[in-house]
Amino acid sequence: MAYDYDLFVIGAGSGGLAASKRAASYGAKVAIAEGDLVGGTCVIRGCVPKKLMVYASKFSHLYEDAVGYGWSKVEPSFDWQKLVTAVNNEVMRLNQLHINFLAKAGVELFQSRATLVDSHTVEVNGRKITADKILIAVGGEAIKPDLPGVEYTVTSREMFHLKEQPKRLLVIGAGYIAVEFACIMHGLGSQVSVMIRGDRILKDFDEDISSGVKDGMSKHGIDFICNSLAKKFEQTSEGIKITYAEKGKDTESTITADAVLFAIGRAPNLARLGLETADVEVINCEDEDLPRLHGYSVNCAIQVDEYSRTNQPNIFAVGDCTNRINLTPVAIGEGRAFADTEFGNNPRVFSHHEVASAVFSQPEAGTVGLSEAEARQKYGDAVKIYRARFRPMFHSLTGADEKVTVKLVVDSNTERVLGAHMVGENAAEIIQGIAIAVKMGATKKDFDATVGIHPSTAEEFVTLR
Ligand code: NDP
Repeated sequence: MAYDYDLFVIGAGSGGLAASKRAASYGAKVAIAEGDLVGGTCVIRGCVPKKLMVYASKFSHLYEDAVGYGWSKVEPSFDWQKLVTAVNNEVMRLNQLHINFLAKAGVELFQSRATLVDSHTVEVNGRKITADKILIAVGGEAIKPDLPGVEYTVTSREMFHLKEQPKRLLVIGAGYIAVEFACIMHGLGSQVSVMIRGDRILKDFDEDISSGVKDGMSKHGIDFICNSLAKKFEQTSEGIKITYAEKGKDTESTITADAVLFAIGRAPNLARLGLETADVEVINCEDEDLPRLHGYSVNCAIQVDEYSRTNQPNIFAVGDCTNRINLTPVAIGEGRAFADTEFGNNPRVFSHHEVASAVFSQPEAGTVGLSEAEARQKYGDAVKIYRARFRPMFHSLTGADEKVTVKLVVDSNTERVLGAHMVGENAAEIIQGIAIAVKMGATKKDFDATVGIHPSTAEEFVTLR
């Protein structure tokens, strides 16, 4: 049977764009549908605008640091509207750039939502389109709990478009997004409090990363409200009044802020996709107590195998909608592996092991491989830790109480480096290089045999004793 396309991709985010262009490069006839701007979360309301705001937020620290190096003190002023406009202009430029890339690759773009009709058919703008293979790459969405007054709060999506910079910001959550936005807004001059339900941030990271970042943030003046859960939000003449309960206390407390950011996780964007109609299996939907997003519990995800195949032989899914590792480069890797396998005559599985990541907080954190806790669970007493915590050279003249942590987690039986972790300036850039060595199975001896670049922070990774 002849189909309209060899491949129809639903969602023009990181995974969908990478897969569609790679498939087209093999000569496949490819179309892609996107109901929003082209680029997906990362480009439109995630990594890219976030990183630009991280850059913006660093200047306040730099102005202060410069004084120790002989520069006169400056009284900087900051224009929120100017930054937001500049960031959004850049996002729109990238949206257009990705549209151009698709055209150059010969991928047809439908700027509209697509819904599954059956295993070979999608509906776009009321029109039925057939394809030999369908790839779902619809990403995820930020979640909010169902609490009274939650409509007065925002998610990371709206943070990039706030009309005014909040003087007082309450961030609820303790993951990547909470920590990054807390630091951005603090750097830009907002007074920031972070409400966490335990007493640890970045819980899934190595303990030294969690404590190192929290320590640094506290020193900068970010306030942590620990062991606390928000209960309700009210708009008052003073701002948004947040009522919260603290573990171990009988009475509830309140705090007032100009904006409240919920950053308590993201969930696969499974709404109005026609998954049931096309009989595509969805997993992890059992927990009735979890918050729901468009009718699905937030843990639900499209079930896929290692080749990103769903239960329908010709329907595939990649990226955050499969809830494996929710990072842009992973979605891109999964998308390209899918295209190579299905259209490039090169069957291959994307490796989800030793995926490096970074938290663009201040101080920044970078990580690859196993945390100390994960390694101890797997290798027990064989785990050996090498760690250094020190003041970086840059701050010897600024007087700022800043610390860097570098850490290697090693299996002493094989000498293999199982994990590398860092807190401090340029952690993302440094860990990216270290990740190659860890992925290749480097041993502590390999690290020791590497000559350091002096003076640098990164050299500490090859001089740990
Ligand atoms: P995360 O999954 O990283 O963290 C969620 C946080 O919310 C946890 O700290 C959790 O706390 C807390 N939480 C969950 N439920 C509640 C609740 N009901 N009340 C209070 N706190 C709660 O989510 P994010 O939203 O930060 O990020 C989503 C995804 O986006 C991540 O998976 C990440 O992969 C990706 N991302 C990556 C970035 C990067 O690579 N730099 C940047 C931004 C996002 P607890 O510790 O108590 O469980």
